[in-house]
Amino acid sequence: MASVPRILSLGAGVQSTTLMLLSAHGVLPRFDAAIFADTGWEPPAVYTHLERLESEVAIPAGIPILRVQVGNIRHDALDPVRGFASMPLYVRNPDGSRGIGRRQCTAEYKIRPIQEQVRRMLGAKPKANGRPGRVPKGRHVVQAIGISRDEIQRAKDSRVTYSRHEHPLLDLPGAADGRRGWTRSDCRRYLRRHNFGTTPKSACVGCPFRRNASWRRMRDHDPASWADAVAFDRAIRHDYPRAAARGATLRGEYFLHESRLPLDQAPIDRVTRAEWAARQSNVFDAIADNAFDLDDDPDADVGCSPFTCPGSLATGEHLEPVA
Ligand code: SF4
Repeated sequence: MASVPRILSLGAGVQSTTLMLLSAHGVLPRFDAAIFADTGWEPPAVYTHLERLESEVAIPAGIPILRVQVGNIRHDALDPVRGFASMPLYVRNPDGSRGIGRRQCTAEYKIRPIQEQVRRMLGAKPKANGRPGRVPKGRHVVQAIGISRDEIQRAKDSRVTYSRHEHPLLDLPGAADGRRGWTRSDCRRYLRRHNFGTTPKSACVGCPFRRNASWRRMRDHDPASWADAVAFDRAIRHDYPRAAARGATLRGEYFLHESRLPLDQAPIDRVTRAEWAARQSNVFDAIADNAFDLDDDPDADVGCSPFTCPGSLATGEHLEPVA
């Protein structure tokens, strides 16, 4: 391994898969490792994609994919005993007003295990609880984050001194328009060219940030995950079981869909304005790329990458103090 290891934060979505391919193809320097944080509740398509990426790209290129996991977010949420990092559930308060729950899940299930793995790789000694402690002075990794030009506002420095973020897609010459930095469309085009056009977005089956298109796709193409999400939605209606077990006062009702209706009754067949806008841009993309696969567009899904979750706590607030 190089003196300053180069790590890929592998969310297994479009941008980070593109980085893996670019590195394997020699367009970018080779990563020493890639880290995938598993919440335990990704749809089967994500795990299938990850397996394929590993066997066809990462292993031949000599890039180990390290899977890290702190628990199973679904099981933990329904466990009346275990502590649980909350998901951004939609809330209908007792007075009828609407709210949204705090999101701690990205930090807890994705960022924390990645940072702990990085600390282990840098030689941090285990603490009494078995988790890695401080990184020896002066050591750090460079961690590549898959951020494309269209989401440049999400590019953030790391808040920990042992990990420096870099955003290689932003430094590449624009593939389609010649401007600096690749867009998401550039990435998708590259993936299609290399037979990875069906790369899904990575997100928990029951992520409340799924849009209607994403729920429809699940209902119509992945009935087992849909049934799982509907059952979960029902199970958290009156808060997480742990809160109920502690005797917390009923604070309202909780839902996975923003309509605050049970998932199997929610109006997911309604095409929202945002979806129309996305379809429009996909049409232009497909025409430019001669790839008319809009009904099967992976962009219809929501995604949650460790360091690029929109509005997430990906800045490290919930992590251990800077070491
Ligand atoms: S996909 Fe959704 S539920 Fe899962 S960790 Fe990310 S924000 Fe939380």
